[in-house]
Amino acid sequence: MHIHSAEFIKSAQKPDQYPMAAFPEIAFAGRSNVGKSTLINVLVNRKHLVKTSKTPGRTQLINFFLINNAVSLVDLPGYGYAKVPKKLRYSWGSMVETYLSRRESLKGVVLIMDIRRTPGVAEFDFVAWLNQWGIPGILVLTKTDKLSRNQQIKQQTAIAKQFSRHSEEFILFSGKTRSGQATVWAAIEALVGNTD
Ligand code: GDP
Repeated sequence: MHIHSAEFIKSAQKPDQYPMAAFPEIAFAGRSNVGKSTLINVLVNRKHLVKTSKTPGRTQLINFFLINNAVSLVDLPGYGYAKVPKKLRYSWGSMVETYLSRRESLKGVVLIMDIRRTPGVAEFDFVAWLNQWGIPGILVLTKTDKLSRNQQIKQQTAIAKQFSRHSEEFILFSGKTRSGQATVWAAIEALVGNTD
């Protein structure tokens, strides 16, 4: 994947603040601190396009980026950070649910999970949402560099089982070694077409 341009377009909370739906769009979701910003930055080959959040749970905005003038990537606010007040947690739910249910250019959502963690209610609910709206999900297990190859396979198998899916449906990724980057792009391009 050759990245010749990657630009921040705007931040939004509500649909009337979204940019025009002029490009096929892929959104990224995951628990706060899971490595979502890192994954997007690795995909677009830029160190700081997406600011990695020093204060987890603080950024409660939907951020839109345009890549190669061809595909729009959307950073959804991270979920599940315990210190976020209940009121904010609610607004996270309504903000993300509104986006997922109404964005006509949305072609798929990359759901990022830490390969070392057992998925929880938040992940199962999220996949249920995607199914409910017929939005294709790209499932990514990140931070694989923290485990041995054997442990990675073991975790991939266990997590897939919990979702009643095949283990090959979970892409292994590392923001540190960048392994899996091409596989994530291939999954994105299968949904949006060629983006070179
Ligand atoms: P976000 O809150 O989901 O956007 O997470 P960030 O991308 O800001 O990452 C959270 C922390 O995890 C940072 O300290 C990153 O350096 C680290 N991190 C992210 N991805 C990886 C990875 O694949 N491997 C390792 N070892 N650390 C990672």
